[in-house]
Amino acid sequence: MGEQFIFTKYRTSCYNCGQNVDQVIKAVRSQAQVECSNCGATRIFIPRTSEVGKPGLYTKIGCYDVWELVEEAYCMNCCGTWPHDMVIGCSHFTVRCRNCGFTHFYKFNVEYVAKCPLPGEKG
Ligand SMILES: [Zn+2]
Ligand SMILES: [Zn+2]
Repeated sequence: MGEQFIFTKYRTSCYNCGQNVDQVIKAVRSQAQVECSNCGATRIFIPRTSEVGKPGLYTKIGCYDVWELVEEAYCMNCCGTWPHDMVIGCSHFTVRCRNCGFTHFYKFNVEYVAKCPLPGEKG
């Protein structure tokens, strides 16, 4: 089994550039990130806890749109590939195994815009 846990896309309007484009979602055990495919705005999430939890345990946090996705992934707790419920908000990122309920909880860490040069910089 590789380091890659989840790699998917979600099309929505970007909080940074306002375009309705794919947001590239990646999660490994040590980090999760969401990157806008148009402007490069990236949010990094770091792991906080992982445990067997109930659905909706962490979903109440969030200050704007909460994305709810379902993605096939390998669960290291029950050792199988199943649909996982993903919930992504502005301050949290959770991935929950539908088979055993094991949940990875990531907390928002930093955000940056990779493709946008600083004012005064030459392109
Ligand atoms: Zn954008
Ligand atoms: Zn599982």
